[in-house]
Amino acid sequence: MRSKHFLKFLCIITLSFLGIPFISEELIARAGGGGGGHRGGGSHSGGSGHSSGGYSGLGHSSSYYSGSSHFGFSPFFTAIILIVLLFLAFRLVLFLKKSSIATNTTIVGNEKKSSEKIDGWNEFIAANPNFDLSEFLLKVRKAFIEVQTSWSEQNTNRMRRFITDGVYQRFNTQFKMMKLLQQTNPISNIKIANIWVDKIEQDGLYDIMQVGVEASMNDRFECALNHNLDEEGSQDFVEFWSFIRKRGVPKKDIYDSDKCPNCGAPLPENIGEVCKCTHCNATLNSGEFDWILSEITQKDDYYSDDVFSEKPGNLETKIHDMVSVYGDFSVQLVEDKASNAYMQIMTAKAMHDPSLMRRFVSDELFQQLAPKIEMNREIFNRIFLNKVTLIGAQKKENKNILTFAVTSSIQRVLVANNRMELVDQDIMTREEVIVLTRDALAGAGKGSIYQHNCPSCGGPVKDTLDIKCSYCGSLLNSTANDWVVSALMNRSEFTEDFAFKI
Ligand SMILES: [Zn+2]
Ligand SMILES: [Zn+2]
Repeated sequence: MRSKHFLKFLCIITLSFLGIPFISEELIARAGGGGGGHRGGGSHSGGSGHSSGGYSGLGHSSSYYSGSSHFGFSPFFTAIILIVLLFLAFRLVLFLKKSSIATNTTIVGNEKKSSEKIDGWNEFIAANPNFDLSEFLLKVRKAFIEVQTSWSEQNTNRMRRFITDGVYQRFNTQFKMMKLLQQTNPISNIKIANIWVDKIEQDGLYDIMQVGVEASMNDRFECALNHNLDEEGSQDFVEFWSFIRKRGVPKKDIYDSDKCPNCGAPLPENIGEVCKCTHCNATLNSGEFDWILSEITQKDDYYSDDVFSEKPGNLETKIHDMVSVYGDFSVQLVEDKASNAYMQIMTAKAMHDPSLMRRFVSDELFQQLAPKIEMNREIFNRIFLNKVTLIGAQKKENKNILTFAVTSSIQRVLVANNRMELVDQDIMTREEVIVLTRDALAGAGKGSIYQHNCPSCGGPVKDTLDIKCSYCGSLLNSTANDWVVSALMNRSEFTEDFAFKI
């Protein structure tokens, strides 16, 4: 038996030696469990059957499940193969030793595209001549690992300073649901095969880097309320990470520093929803200091050009007008606000507590949604935002009205007698429209209703049905201060001239 085990051991060693293209693939040690979620995804992505796991964007369609190594050869035949393989491995080791200096520092070599081939590179580099691509890719790498670890730990602390409020809310809602449903989803064996900049876009006063990440990892999903849903497997996937930064800001670092990029004071370990320095009040994730993760999109969603998310031809002009009015306007950032609002409304629904969304929805929408939210008993086993896209902008009676297409993947469940039952047998794709309204002349707020602080005075705001700020008395859901959610409906209820009716 011992020799058989030894043979198998040798065989695994040899195969892994030969099988892993480790010149281009880096194995990252699991620091307390690396994390990102996986599997599943909406039925649109050709769903790999039952799925669980998955962080913000989710739905890795190319998942596979690997069993343990199994060899069906006779011991004699295996031995011959082994000798050949060991010989090849020996040659490979010699070769790698020779080229080890080159292969140990090939992070930049992981780029799939040379910089000249990146869409938008020339315009970007003309405006940012000192941009260091390899330094940026190291930040992405760090972000990737921190996000996976955060997922495993169901805690946003490690990544809070470099993610937008919308990305924070996507994770926050998912973690709340996982805690309600007593689920854990630790990730291990994270391998990043490739990281590359796919394109660079200009968006108002901001630049957006669309970065491709090709990786694989193992994940173990466990649901204490229904062990039939437990799963364990390995998958590889490609997803796109969007990073935003204000154009022309001085270079600072928020990835490898635990100090405020503005005043240098140490940052608190648990920053929470309000992403500000407690010393100088600077907003850390505004894009004024460093690249901020603003979206994670799965490959299928990234390349899909569905009619629902199509931008009408005249949108560019309208966006241009808004940039000149608001100054802080960017499509990515309003889409982020729409994602944030959507996730908080869904949290209110799962918790059947309308006070969780009172501060950022219009009075009319609140009247319409509150009874449904109070009555709801469904919790979301999976809730991923696949895509949130600005599809319309209108001006009406001195208000700007923005319309967004929201595609999500959600599985509803019920919990009774300490057991979870499925309402949807699989993760379902939903298409909804969310509408945000803001006064055409509104200035930049001091705080954000999406972050639990008053846009008028910056004072903290609790989850309450009272929509008057307890410090300055201003109406929290006033369109004079911030974008307020004025409508939410299914795609089927939405018509093109909708905005003119509200
Ligand atoms: Zn500070
Ligand atoms: Zn106030």
